Amino acid sequence: MTTFIQNLSDQLQKARDKQQWRTLREVIPTNAVQATVDGKRCWMFSSNDYLGLSMHPDILQRATDILQSHGLGAGASRLISGSTDWHQRLQRRLAQWKQRPQSLVFGTGYAANLSAIASIATAKDIVIIDKLCHASLIDAVKLSGATWRSFPHLNYDKLRELLKKYDSSEKKIIVTDAVFSMDGDCANLKELVAIKKEFDAVLMVDDAHGTGVFGPACGSGWEEQQEVAQDIDISVGTLSKALGAFGGFIVAQETIIEHFINYARPFIFSTALPAAVAGAAEKAIELIETQPALRATLWKNVHQLNEGLMMLKLIEQPSLSPIIPIIVGESEKAVVLSRFLQDHQCFVPAIRPPAVGLGQARLRISLSAKHSPEMCAHLLNVLETAKQKGLV
Ligand SMILES: *Cc1c(COP(=O)(O)O)cnc(C)c1O
Repeated sequence: MTTFIQNLSDQLQKARDKQQWRTLREVIPTNAVQATVDGKRCWMFSSNDYLGLSMHPDILQRATDILQSHGLGAGASRLISGSTDWHQRLQRRLAQWKQRPQSLVFGTGYAANLSAIASIATAKDIVIIDKLCHASLIDAVKLSGATWRSFPHLNYDKLRELLKKYDSSEKKIIVTDAVFSMDGDCANLKELVAIKKEFDAVLMVDDAHGTGVFGPACGSGWEEQQEVAQDIDISVGTLSKALGAFGGFIVAQETIIEHFINYARPFIFSTALPAAVAGAAEKAIELIETQPALRATLWKNVHQLNEGLMMLKLIEQPSLSPIIPIIVGESEKAVVLSRFLQDHQCFVPAIRPPAVGLGQARLRISLSAKHSPEMCAHLLNVLETAKQKGLV
C-alpha cells in the first residue's frame, strides 16, 4: 500500500473507532414518506421534503412538460446561454413571494451561500456568525478570507460585544440560519434586525428550513413569520427542501443581485439548473401560496409529535419547527437507537459529530405534511418501547 492510501486508511479507522463511520444506503422511494432502505420498507422521518411536494402530480407534470420542450441539461452557465424563460419566471415569482425587488437562482443552496459571502466579504471585513450555522456558511466564511468570529448559539449579547470589538472593520456582516438544521430552533430575527441597525451592519439570513414551512399568509419563511423580510439585506433559501425540487436562491435589492451576477464565482462558473427544475420549483411556490392546508397538516403533525415526545420525556421542550431532535449523547447510543427504530419500520437518522458537537449525538426526526396521524403514533409507540428497553 502506498503511504497516501495508508494515511487515508488510518484516518478512516479513526472514524470507525469513534462510531463516526459513514456509509451510503440505497433508498428506493415509494412515496413522499415511504421508502425501501437497504431492502427494508420504512416510514421515512428523515427528509426535508416538508410538504411532500417532491411527488406532487402537478409539479411532476410541469417538469415533464418542460423536459419535453427544453430538454434535460441547461448546457451552459446562466451568463452564457443557460438562462431560460423558466429561470426568469422562477426568479420573478421568488422575488414576489419573498417581497423583495429581485432574486437570483443558483445551482444549490450551498453554492448560494458560498456566492454571497465569498463575493461580498474581504480581508478588511469582519463576519460574525452563530456557532451552530450550517456548514455551507462556515465554509463560505473561510473561503472569503475575511476575519471571522462566532458567537455562542443565539447569544446576541455576545454578538453585540463582538460588533463593538470589531467596530473599526470596513464592513460588519452578521450571518445566521433562520431555522437551525440540527436543533430545529429559530433565530430571533427581530432582535438581529435591531442589532444590525444599531451597529450599521449587513444582515444575511439563511432561511433554508423556514422557506415553505413558516409564514402565515404566503408560507415564504421564518422571515415572513417574524415580519422582518424588508430589513434583511441578503436572504438565502433552497429549492431543495419544502419546495421539493433542487437548487438555491438569494433575494435582495437590485444592486446586491447585480453584484452576485458579476462577482459570485459559484454562480458564474457553474452550469445553470435544468429549466425543468426551475419550472417545477415555480409550480411548488404557487401551490404553497394557494394551498395553506399543506402547512396546516404539517403543523398538526409537529404538534402530535411534540406532545407525545414531551409525555415520554424524550424532549425538554416542544420544537418550534418540523425538525425535532432527541439528544442521546454518545454516538454509539444514537446508532443503536436508529437501528432499533429501523427494525420497527421507522427511518430516523442518527446525527453524530462532526455534524453536531461532541457528546451531542442525536436522532433527528423531520416531519412532513404527508405523514398520517397513525404513522406519527407508530413512531411514538416504537420510541416508547425503546425507552422501556433502556435504549434512550
Ligand atoms: C440544506 C441547507 C443548505 C444547503 O442547501 P442545498 O440546496 O441542499 O445545497 C444551506 N443552508 C442550510 C441552513 C441548510 O439546511
